[in-house]
Amino acid sequence: MERPRPSADNLYRLLMGPAAVTPDKPAVVEADESGVLHEISYRRLDLLTQEYAAVLDGLGLDVGDRVVVEADTSAAAVAMLLACSMLGLPFVTVSPQTPDTRLLSILRSVEPALHARADGLARRELVEADGSAHFGPGGLVVERPPARRVRRRRNVLATDTAYIVFTSGSTGRPKGVVMSHRAIVTFLRAMLEDGLAGPDDRVASTSPLQFDFALFGIGVALSSGATLVPVRREDLGSPRRMIGFLRDAEVSQVHGVPSLWRPVLRHDPDLLKELERLRSVVFAGEEFPIPELRRLQETLPGARVVNGYGATESMAASFTEVPNPLPAEQERLSIGHAHAGAEMTLVDHRGEVVTQPGRIGEIYLRSPALFTGYWNDPEATAAVLVPDPVEPRHGQKVLRTGDLARLGTGGDLSFVGRSDYQVQIRGNRVELGEVEGTLTRLPTVTAAAVTLVPRSGDHVLMAAVVLDRPGAHLDVGAALAFCARELPTYMVPRSIHTLPELPLTENGKVDRALLTQKLASPRGTSDVRHATNA
Ligand code: ADP
Repeated sequence: MERPRPSADNLYRLLMGPAAVTPDKPAVVEADESGVLHEISYRRLDLLTQEYAAVLDGLGLDVGDRVVVEADTSAAAVAMLLACSMLGLPFVTVSPQTPDTRLLSILRSVEPALHARADGLARRELVEADGSAHFGPGGLVVERPPARRVRRRRNVLATDTAYIVFTSGSTGRPKGVVMSHRAIVTFLRAMLEDGLAGPDDRVASTSPLQFDFALFGIGVALSSGATLVPVRREDLGSPRRMIGFLRDAEVSQVHGVPSLWRPVLRHDPDLLKELERLRSVVFAGEEFPIPELRRLQETLPGARVVNGYGATESMAASFTEVPNPLPAEQERLSIGHAHAGAEMTLVDHRGEVVTQPGRIGEIYLRSPALFTGYWNDPEATAAVLVPDPVEPRHGQKVLRTGDLARLGTGGDLSFVGRSDYQVQIRGNRVELGEVEGTLTRLPTVTAAAVTLVPRSGDHVLMAAVVLDRPGAHLDVGAALAFCARELPTYMVPRSIHTLPELPLTENGKVDRALLTQKLASPRGTSDVRHATNA
């Protein structure tokens, strides 16, 4: 049977558009194992994609059959994702660091036809996938072909699934977010309209491939005809190597979670001055602690900093330039207005749309780029894809984000926190972010995380902080006294622990569950209490 054909709204068609216009331009610049930089042109990337697609097509898979792609971001990984897209095979990305247990639960859940891993990665003895293969610059090699199946579909439609990304769990239990070609292509076209990146950009991507922030980088760079620059994990491990790589690769835009910048800001902020070509820093995934943000702006005066807000369920919702300098009294960041073609509406606890500036509500996102649903979980899907609160009779569904924001006078929004970070203490509602914001106003504190820890039948607030440089000291008594002056008694943390770094998830966000565990266990607490600020 003939190969399924992708419609115009296919991710492959959008991202390989530049191959026809600027075939010789580098699509990807990447470092090999020795750190030597290589350029892969749009023409070469397209050829590799076609090669992989021919092999995949030979397996006789049907539109909708899943392919798990285990890799770091690279030209070969991008070609693999695009080959899947072209044939209507939803890709499910996992990174090589994904623990076996998590990979196994993903494999069991999505029942892939193929598990393809990047060359050089060890084969894991997990028998769940039907077929297995490995891929690299030399081609796609099938080790165990999947069982032949009957092709029931002929065309790859805009509504077909492009990918499934499993959330990391910072927003509750991990869920498989199903995104259609239409959703992701519509989203990336909005980025083009908003001019997030241009053809002259070199866009560094730092997130693991399982996090959709990595797919965002690939999508934004290639759809703009720019150059994608994946940063290797080993280079992210040391500020000197990371900055050296970004400098040598002549990167103009960096994508990363806020914690990406913490080590360099603490240990050697002057290194940042080497990034003469850097024009923009796009962060997303969580709030950027204000003191760190100020420091980043001071050391990178030529770069604009953009706050990307949103969730995997729509890839992102808004991109807002952070004012430089940040006003002195600023405590929470603006998440502005939704990207082109989308709109954010605030809804209060009674279900009414918030129209009065200063009021807080939950963010509902209206967008043609929303996800299709959670993989195999109609109940969880129905809980967040809900009738439009403005006029439900249209039958249109919008995304209930679980995030709270305050309405500004110009209709812009400021982030307040996740609704599940709103906790009750002795009958009082406490916003964990507000306590964290107070702690980061202490002179040496640059980042803080507060959590509710079970203690002798009750729950108490405990805080962890990171100081601005190794060897800095925090006077805990004075810090608690400051909190007591600034906050109502029930919001003052029971204790403050200094850590060299906040515990992070695989995706680089603050891992509150792990922090709570550490602070809750008497052993963990003593470890934390005595942790040196190295
Ligand atoms: P997970 O963290 O479980 O993998 P997501 O990456 O989809 O799932 O997380 C989305 C959530 O991250 C948002 O709902 C919001 O709470 C938070 N978030 C994302 N970007 C920002 C931002 N710029 N500022 C504050 N919070 C953010």
